[in-house]
Amino acid sequence: MPVGILALQGDFREHAQLLNGMGVETRLVRKPGELDSIDGLVIPGGESTTIGKLADRYGLLEPLRRVVRSGVPTLGTCAGLIFLAAGTTGPAQIHLGVLDVVVERNAFGRQVDSFEAELDVTGLVDPLHAVFIRAPVIDKAGADVEILATVENDPVMVRQGNIIATSFHPELTGETRVHTLMLNQEG
Ligand code: GLN
Repeated sequence: MPVGILALQGDFREHAQLLNGMGVETRLVRKPGELDSIDGLVIPGGESTTIGKLADRYGLLEPLRRVVRSGVPTLGTCAGLIFLAAGTTGPAQIHLGVLDVVVERNAFGRQVDSFEAELDVTGLVDPLHAVFIRAPVIDKAGADVEILATVENDPVMVRQGNIIATSFHPELTGETRVHTLMLNQEG
């Protein structure tokens, strides 16, 4: 079965290209029915307020929650992390609320819109080259949330059950190990 990629806004094509290059079949998801029979779910980077509003408009919020809660391996990158979260430290916006974290959006400051870093990631042998673009950090994490990587003590990659979420964009650097970790999760 394919991996579904939420394709409302953001860099869903980059996720599809990366997964296809790994030999994984993908399906772009814009309607609830397109969430049926998928082996994984990816929520891309982009603009989390827009993704939330469009998901609400297209009736995707409850179907997405059901899929994630059913144990389907799920990956959210950057805006995807924010959309999966319980909330943000800023103004209210639409979230799935399936990942027990509170995030701070654009947390690395406006002067430094983007940067790159070498991360030590729990479960990976070699460092991971990560690209951060107007990235969030995880401000609070619940007891079930495992922190897999940090930047200056701020969590930037977490796992909770079948969900992996990153502040950075593995889909932009040809990095396949994060997607592999996600696909190998058990629900
Ligand atoms: N700053 C964006 C947001 O808050 C996320 C940026 C990204 O996905 N690269 O939604």
